[in-house]
Amino acid sequence: MRILLVEDDAMIGRAVLDLLRSENYATDWVRDGDAADAALQSERYDLVLLDLGLPRADGLQVLRSLRARRDSVPVLVATARDAVGDRVAGLDAGADDYIVKPYDTDELLARVRALLRRSAGRAEPLISHKGLELNPATKQASLNGQPLALSAREWVVLEPMLQRPGVVFSRTQLEEKLYGWKDEVSSNAVEVYVHGLRKKLGADFIKTVRGLGYVVPRE
Ligand code: CA
Repeated sequence: MRILLVEDDAMIGRAVLDLLRSENYATDWVRDGDAADAALQSERYDLVLLDLGLPRADGLQVLRSLRARRDSVPVLVATARDAVGDRVAGLDAGADDYIVKPYDTDELLARVRALLRRSAGRAEPLISHKGLELNPATKQASLNGQPLALSAREWVVLEPMLQRPGVVFSRTQLEEKLYGWKDEVSSNAVEVYVHGLRKKLGADFIKTVRGLGYVVPRE
């Protein structure tokens, strides 16, 4: 999953960046509204964590122009504890949820998981398909009731496909979930992880769609 973190405070930004990356979210960090606008228009994200008080364009402006472009990416707005007006304005401008600063990190991660789940059209916290079950909160997997060991990167490649069986993901789309801008992407990384997943899940669990990408078939 790929997240854009918009935060102008260097200390908070660094801490949240480290937190999200430690949970294997490919996270990009920008520090002002203009940079957020630019990133949102050039990259695809699964979620935006948006501070409202920002230099250049403020968070509400970023959010309004995002929704004016009909971009439906989930947005979690960060506000100060006493700023009820900000929370209302954020939600009314198209935010999906808010979190109060200073963050409780467990709450932040739980809200991130909830939004990612909802945006994938699921209400239930477990992702399951054909005997395979992923628990994004505990990062535990099982296959036909038996615990299954997945590497962090295998998980990152598998989770989006498992959330949307029948949807073809291009190699680029899966690469984007693995890495932020600053990281090296080795050209065959996705193939390597898919290969590893097939060994664990069975050769047909993930199908290659020639020229298009990969899919977890619906049936
Ligand atoms: Ca701020």
